[in-house]
Amino acid sequence: MRVLRFRIKDKHRDWLSAAAREVNFVWNYCNDLSSKVFERERRFMSGYDLQAYLNGASKAGLSIGSPVFQQVAEEYATRRRQHKKVRLAWRKSGGARRSLGWVPFKARAVEYRGGQIRFNGQCFGMWDSFGLVDYVAAGARLRSGSFSEDARGRWYLNVAIEVRDMCGPPRPRVLDPVGIDLGLKELAVLSDGRKVAAERFYRDLEPALAAAQRAGKKARSRAIHAKISNRRKDHLHKLSTKLVANHRRIFVGNVNAAALAKTSMAKSVLDAGWSTFRTMLQYKCDDAGVWFEEVNEAYSTVTCSACGARSGPSGLGALGVRQWSCACGVVHDRDVNAAQNILLAGLASMSGSVATKGYTAPGRVDRKVASAARVSNKDSGNALQCTAMAGAGHGPLAEGIPVL
Ligand SMILES: [Zn+2]
Repeated sequence: MRVLRFRIKDKHRDWLSAAAREVNFVWNYCNDLSSKVFERERRFMSGYDLQAYLNGASKAGLSIGSPVFQQVAEEYATRRRQHKKVRLAWRKSGGARRSLGWVPFKARAVEYRGGQIRFNGQCFGMWDSFGLVDYVAAGARLRSGSFSEDARGRWYLNVAIEVRDMCGPPRPRVLDPVGIDLGLKELAVLSDGRKVAAERFYRDLEPALAAAQRAGKKARSRAIHAKISNRRKDHLHKLSTKLVANHRRIFVGNVNAAALAKTSMAKSVLDAGWSTFRTMLQYKCDDAGVWFEEVNEAYSTVTCSACGARSGPSGLGALGVRQWSCACGVVHDRDVNAAQNILLAGLASMSGSVATKGYTAPGRVDRKVASAARVSNKDSGNALQCTAMAGAGHGPLAEGIPVL
């Protein structure tokens, strides 16, 4: 059994928030009911006892199905036992202390189909960052889990995967996340060290273009412009398609093409087609359910990806420096180091933490990746607990009933 966490697309936010309000209502109802019964009969209700009271929920105007309510009742009873309290904190749907959204479900309430999660008669688009498609193809089954919201209002699917009948985890195509440093000499340098040379479409055809313009052949120069643009697009399409097919998470630096296009490097910048490339990556990733993020690449060339020190060459004079060594002893290829920093920044942003001092040590990249599934496991477990405990101790205790 393994718990995986997937980011749900933002277009489902409103629906999930509305569902979370109903969950809060049911949770608070269980909280109230359970503590009243304890006051009266000095016994605690089980999840099963509580469920019997929830049969009329849909008549009370609640729209999400009874499997969800039953799961809420079970979770409530489990948490109450765990925290040894007569009454748990109320879940708040609004105000400053609003509980982060949480919608639990039973195994039979969800189904994975065509890259989406079917739940409550609706299909939820998500980013398959952990290769759920491969797990399901290998015969893994979805168990119970939850949708949960983070502090930034993003929603996640936390779902347990039954992997009992499988011989080890499936071999996903390529799970490694990749950082991409866009440049001029090389169009793209990847965090794993691969380099994609920049093509000189414009410069190659520039003499022909100039000749056509001098001769006043407008149709001919238009045709040459079109040829340049087509070759460039074709190149970028092939590269972006390959990247999307081979990675589940792609991070790219936010290099500012518009600013550089005003400098003497303008022609190379135009040839590079960074913006077009990022746009292609974005929509192809969205289509394929691959995570795509542009990250701030400030300091990515001067920061050592091994120790986080800003020991790299800086300033205009340093542009020609392709290799440098840090005081910590690591020798860097300038662009590969930058790509690794972009990857680290992307992974940090994805896990919701803020990279405050430089970047994390890269020795940790591989372990981080390898343990990503395990990390997500822990995260979602905590998320459940945190949401259940949100504001614990703030609900008024029933008078005269000692806390157990
Ligand atoms: Zn260093």
